[in-house]
Amino acid sequence: MMNFVDTYRCTLCGRTVLPHEAEGTCPSCGEKGILDVEYDYAKLRGFLDRSWLERNPLRTMFRYIPLLPLEDPSVSKMLPIGWTPLIRMDALERTLGLRSLHVKDEGANPSGSLKDRASAIAVLRAISEGKKTVACSSTGNAASSLACHAARMGLEAVIFVPGRAPVGKLNQIMIHGAEVVMVDGDYKAAYALSKDAIETFGWYNRNAAVNANLVEGKKTAAYEIIEMLGFEVPDWVVVSVGDGCTIAGLHKGFYDFMKLGIIDRLPRLLGVQSKGCAPLAEAFRTGKLKEAKEDTIADSIAVGIPRNPVKALSAVSSSKGTWVTVDDEAILDAMRTLGKHGIFAEPASAAGYAGLEEARRQNIIKEGESVVFVHTGHGLKDPENARRAVGTPEPVKADMSALKHRFKTKGE
Ligand SMILES: *Cc1c(COP(=O)(O)O)cnc(C)c1O
Ligand SMILES: [Zn+2]
Repeated sequence: MMNFVDTYRCTLCGRTVLPHEAEGTCPSCGEKGILDVEYDYAKLRGFLDRSWLERNPLRTMFRYIPLLPLEDPSVSKMLPIGWTPLIRMDALERTLGLRSLHVKDEGANPSGSLKDRASAIAVLRAISEGKKTVACSSTGNAASSLACHAARMGLEAVIFVPGRAPVGKLNQIMIHGAEVVMVDGDYKAAYALSKDAIETFGWYNRNAAVNANLVEGKKTAAYEIIEMLGFEVPDWVVVSVGDGCTIAGLHKGFYDFMKLGIIDRLPRLLGVQSKGCAPLAEAFRTGKLKEAKEDTIADSIAVGIPRNPVKALSAVSSSKGTWVTVDDEAILDAMRTLGKHGIFAEPASAAGYAGLEEARRQNIIKEGESVVFVHTGHGLKDPENARRAVGTPEPVKADMSALKHRFKTKGE
């Protein structure tokens, strides 16, 4: 397979780096100098158009391989990641007064979250670089996803988790046989230790924000949204934000399709953060990025020092989008609302839906507009917070009269 990567460019200083430096950050800017992968759009334009997409038989994210930084032939052995359902939500779109509302169901990925799209790139690049071990620090989904795909492809995974990882995600990591380093501390501490360990032991680094290639995996969700809408561009795409890689990835996907002439405008991006941890929404308002506390049930987006602020903020701004914040009560409420319409979302994912409701309340998203909500992670990953949303059932005596009484009193 041919590779259409042109160069890797620093998002801060604009310097380009050599391919062998491409898994890291800019040598001039250090940690903050996140790179961006640039493609040879002129070459791609020659063949990658709507009809190429329509003729493409592959129903996974690997249908977009010319637009990914991959050359590895082991793609066919990967679990089927991507091409997740785009579901029309008729009842909710009426409630919200929208022309259309679709849910992009990333919970349908093999490990139950959108992180699979980035892990795919990590695992395949690790294999082509001859690495035997992949590593990351994560509050859960990046790790459970990496553990899953590393196991499938015969790699070792070393996962640094902070003390507060939700049980469902931790179980996934363990079931897939990864080496778990449970760091006594928060995400920041786990991240710092993983960074040192990756350098010391020479493992493949799946810390999404600092590895430009991984965002490329996430952008495939945007391609799928456009294809599945029959090449119509929605007015808004709504997603929750932690490090900022997901929203940056979505922007990149829409941008690529613009560059290729497949669509003629970008959807506006609504970035949603939890009130208990909203450094990017704050930075958008004040112009200054400050460390935030991590006080929210939405663990996947509780990132006090986002690793990808430049790309995330410019993704939203250049799409003419904006940011909203939602509190934990609104998140629990969104979990119940989505659940009643067949969608089981973990808190971080439901936060995006709560943000959509908030944006309608503030009339940021207008009546009659079309919206895609990206549902980023399955609710089974965090059973404790699901219980918090709905409680536990009252037991009933095993006889009919008790049951009749219960249905009578429930009819209020
Ligand atoms: C990782 C994640 C996000 C946010 O992605 P970032 O790249 O950290 O902004 C949102 N929801 C879920 C379920 C996630 O796992
Ligand atoms: Zn730089």
